[in-house]
Amino acid sequence: MAAGVTHRNGAAMTTTTRTRIASHPTAIRPALQNLHQTALLQLREAGQLAGLSADMIDLLSYPKRELIVHFPVIMDSGAVRVFTGYRVQHNIARGPTKGGIRYHPDVTLDEIRGLAMLMTWKCALLNIPYGGAKGGVAVERREVSRGELERLTRRYTAEISFIIGPEVDIPAPDMNTDAQVMAWMMDTYSMGKGYSVPGVVTGKPIILGGTAGRAEATGRGVMIVAQEAVTRQGKNPAETSVAVQGAGNVGGVAADLMHRAGFKVVAISDRQGGLYEPTGLNIQAVLQWRKEREWLASYPRAAAISNEELLELDVDVLVPAALEGQIHAGNAARIKAPLIIEGANAPTTPEADLILKDRGVLVVPDILANGGGVLVSYFEWVQDLQAFYWEETQINERLEQAMLRSFQEVSTLAQERGITLRQAALVLGVQRVVQAIESRGIYP
Ligand code: NAD
Repeated sequence: MAAGVTHRNGAAMTTTTRTRIASHPTAIRPALQNLHQTALLQLREAGQLAGLSADMIDLLSYPKRELIVHFPVIMDSGAVRVFTGYRVQHNIARGPTKGGIRYHPDVTLDEIRGLAMLMTWKCALLNIPYGGAKGGVAVERREVSRGELERLTRRYTAEISFIIGPEVDIPAPDMNTDAQVMAWMMDTYSMGKGYSVPGVVTGKPIILGGTAGRAEATGRGVMIVAQEAVTRQGKNPAETSVAVQGAGNVGGVAADLMHRAGFKVVAISDRQGGLYEPTGLNIQAVLQWRKEREWLASYPRAAAISNEELLELDVDVLVPAALEGQIHAGNAARIKAPLIIEGANAPTTPEADLILKDRGVLVVPDILANGGGVLVSYFEWVQDLQAFYWEETQINERLEQAMLRSFQEVSTLAQERGITLRQAALVLGVQRVVQAIESRGIYP
C-alpha cells in the first residue's frame, strides 16, 4: 500500500492500482492569513494596474460601516453564554450591500473585513448592482444544538437588524449557515417589521421566497468555469482529473456537478480528511455516505488521505472549496495541478500566488470562480422584490451566460495586459466601483 494511505477495503486494494501519495509530516502549516491585509494588498495592486490615484485607493480601502455585537444566548443547560458577531459593509456605490454570514470559531473582524471587500469586487465584476458585505459569528457549529443555533441566529439578526434590509444589506449563507439559518433570519427581521420581508436575505427555503437553483448555484458556477477553462486548454472533461477540497455547499455540489458533466473526480475532502481513488470516485455515492454518516473518512471504496495530501495530488484540476489560506508559501511549490479553480474565498495566499504564477499554474480566482452564488442570490432578490418567480432552467441559463461573459472579460483583459486572471478580475471589479463613485461624486 502507498505510504500515507490507509485503506479499509482489502478486496478493493488487490484489484486497484494505487498511486503513491507522498506524505508531508513536516509540511509548513499555513500561517493564519490575515484576510484584511490580503484584501488590501490585492486592492493596492489592482489600483496601481488600473492607474488609480493614491486617494482613490485609500478611499476604497475603508469599509463603509462595521458593526461588532456581543450578545447573550440561553443555552440548553440554562447557562447564559455571550457570543460575538460582526457585520461589515464595505462599499455602497453600486447599490445595497450583499454577502454571506459565516459561523466559525475563527471568525474575526479582520476576516470579515477582508471578505466584505472581496464581495465588492465580485459583485462589480459580475455586474450586479450591489456593494460587498460579510457577517459572521464566532461559534463552533458542532458544539451548539439546533435550539441554541436558532436562538443564536435570531439574537444575532436582531442585533444587526438596523443595518440590514432589502434596500440596505442582504445577507446569505456562507460556511456553516444554510437555508434554515436564512429562514430564521428572515422571520426575525420580519417580526421586527410586523410584515414578511422575504428580500432581506437570500438562500432561503423556496417556500419562503427562495429561488430554484440557489443551493447549487456556487458549485454550478465552479463547474461552468472549470468546463470553460478546460475547453480553452483544448481538453475535454472525460480526460480531466479533479481533486476537490471541501464537501459542503460549494465543494460537494461542484464535485457532484463536475462528475455529472463527465470530469473524473478522483479526490474530495471535508474537515476530517479526504478520499482518493485514481480511477475516479462515485461522487453521488460518496456524498450520500457523508449525508448519512456526517464525515467522508469512513467511506470504504477509496483510500483515505489528508487535506494536505489532497492539495498536492497529481491531478489536472484542483478545486479548493473549503477555507481561506489553504495554498500557501509552504505548499505552493508542491501543487501539481496546472489549473486551480478557487471555489472558496481567498484559498490562495498572495505569497502562494507568486509561486504559482512563476510555475505557470493557471488560477481562476475566487471572485470569478465562485461568483455563481451571489449571482443567483441576486436573481432571488429580484424575484422577491417583484413577487414573481422564475423557472430553474431560466436561472441556470442566466447563471451560465453571466459566468461565461465574466470569464471572457477577465481572460481578454489578462491577455491584453499580460497579467494574471486574478489581477484582471480585480482590475475589472475595482474599476467598475470607481466609475460608480466618480459619477456619484463625493458627498456633500
Ligand atoms: P460549508 O460549510 O457548506 O462547507 C465547508 C466544507 O469545508 C465542509 O465540507 C467542511 O468539512 C470543510 N472544511 C472545514 N474546515 C476544513 C479544513 N480545515 N480543511 C478542509 N476542509 C475543511 O461552506 P461553503 O458554503 O461550501 O463555503 C466554502 C467556501 O466557499 C468558503 O470560503 C466560502 O466563503 C466560499 N463561498 C461560499 C459560497 C456559498 O454560496 N455557500 C459562495 C461563494 C463562496
